[in-house]
Amino acid sequence: MGLKGSCLCGEISYEIDSVDMPIVHCHCQTCLKAHAAPFASTAGVKRENFRWLKGASSISTFESSPGKLRHFCKCCGSQLVAERPAQAQRMA
Ligand SMILES: [Zn+2]
Ligand SMILES: [Zn+2]
Repeated sequence: MGLKGSCLCGEISYEIDSVDMPIVHCHCQTCLKAHAAPFASTAGVKRENFRWLKGASSISTFESSPGKLRHFCKCCGSQLVAERPAQAQRMA
């Protein structure tokens, strides 16, 4: 199952080839804050199945907890993906 996504302003877009792990609705404190929502729905994707299509230079990164990087658009502030580079090869 392939899927494309983009930020609110359209500056950044990405593509995934498959959803490799189940969709979860995360209620952790940093997801609530990062998404300004009562929970955040995320699915894990293996890194080799994920690629940025455009706008890579507009990505800003915030380390919301040690080792966890949240990537967002520096133009519109949309949350895009989070990853733990030191751990399993996955993006969420
Ligand atoms: Zn944007
Ligand atoms: Zn969370």
